[in-house]
Amino acid sequence: MSIISINPANGQQIKEYATLNDEQVAAKIEQGHQAWLSWRKTGHDLRRALLYELAGVLRERKQQLAELMANEMGKPVIQGAAEVEKCAVCCEYYAQFAETHLADKLLSSGASKSYASYQPLGIVLAVMPWNFPLWQVFRFLAPALAAGNCGVLKHASNVPGCALAIEEMVVAAGFPANVFQTLLISSSMVEKVIENPRIIAVTLTGSTAAGISVARKAGEMLKKTVLELGGSDAYVVLADADLELAAQTCVNSRLINSGQSCIASKRFIVEEPVLEKFTQLVLEKMKAKRLGDPLDPATEIGPQARADLRDELHDQVRRSVEKGAVCILGGEIPPGNNAFYPATILTNVNSDVPSYHEELFGPVASIIAAKDEEDAIRIANDSVFGLGSAVFTQDLAKGERIAATELQAGSSYVNERVQSDPRLPFGGVKTSGYGRELGEFGIREFVNIKTVYIR
Ligand code: NDP
Repeated sequence: MSIISINPANGQQIKEYATLNDEQVAAKIEQGHQAWLSWRKTGHDLRRALLYELAGVLRERKQQLAELMANEMGKPVIQGAAEVEKCAVCCEYYAQFAETHLADKLLSSGASKSYASYQPLGIVLAVMPWNFPLWQVFRFLAPALAAGNCGVLKHASNVPGCALAIEEMVVAAGFPANVFQTLLISSSMVEKVIENPRIIAVTLTGSTAAGISVARKAGEMLKKTVLELGGSDAYVVLADADLELAAQTCVNSRLINSGQSCIASKRFIVEEPVLEKFTQLVLEKMKAKRLGDPLDPATEIGPQARADLRDELHDQVRRSVEKGAVCILGGEIPPGNNAFYPATILTNVNSDVPSYHEELFGPVASIIAAKDEEDAIRIANDSVFGLGSAVFTQDLAKGERIAATELQAGSSYVNERVQSDPRLPFGGVKTSGYGRELGEFGIREFVNIKTVYIR
């Protein structure tokens, strides 16, 4: 068995990698367990120092990592470099704050002393996607290692070079051998890994289907899961919004990573009085974005990560148009052996149209008209997803009320695009998943919150 990486900008094979067999996987997990027996006893001083080293290694290799991502999954290099920087910041965040987040919490009871203590659990399996090949992994890896856990990574099959590069950087930073290992395996081998008694929990970022499959198996084995799945984020644009800001933010969010982000704005829900003006602004801004070679620093939209994903996206656009959506920009597959898809806008989207309900994982915006504020909130919540959301209004009190109490999502932003930030919890509700990554909440997902009681 092998894993083959293909450059989505030209359809050419980059490299073929041999996958591990079951025995090799079991041996690596056992090595991970042996590493954990020592790692769990290390203090915060050592972990802090190594995380700072890791941040340094990331920065030293920024350009080469950005090029690797561009070649394997088509991310424009400028965005790739920013992703590497964000991983370094995440390492620094947990270097600085893990000790505080995991400090014993004194609790009063009948005891002379009682408290909650956050103890490491063991090896966590991370099943990760290709869209942010470094960031998705680092936001698991940094808090996991900081908490005294170990990790094994099953990365997406189209980014094996990134998967190996991460393992190599952990070693280069000076972490003990085997605290973090990459398993080059197919998704069909994941069940076996979950069954391994040394694996104590699983975190997955990816599609809802993959999340269900992994959670089912983990449930059967009574192992905790954190799932970060798809989203169809609603950005509500109210009639009193700063339309220029709203349009720019919606477009920037929609096109981040060539449209392949779980927290991209996917549905622009606009109050009718400003619908026409907003649509015009979005059209101008989407048109201006430059599609091209991901290695060119001027490129803003690269190819989609794989040709099959691009074809699936185009099928969603085609089906949406059949059901009454109007395509006012893009919507056609460019010629050539590649995975490019242009910035595309669908208007006249309503509940009969697939793009109203489905996640469109590419540079396709759906514009939906709302009669008024109440209708806009109803439409925003009329989704199986609940990852991020945003509202645009110049009335900040109203915006805060809608964000805090009305929008059904794991995060709600006012006059800003949804972003993951090491300091803030990140995750979803409904079919977007459960559990939280990042911040103090993320580092406490995979620890034993142990009650210690002294009479
Ligand atoms: P997947 O969800 O299939 O892949 C994500 C990860 O899960 C990969 O490592 C994949 O491995 C693994 N995986 C897939 N199926 C299983 C399974 N049954 N058991 C165990 N592991 C599994 O994403 P795709 O690449 O197929 O993309 C499809 C759609 O998923 C996108 O169009 C988008 O809607 C959504 N997605 C969401 C992401 C997010 O950030 N929330 C990220 C990526 C995709 P392998 O690559 O070997 O199949």
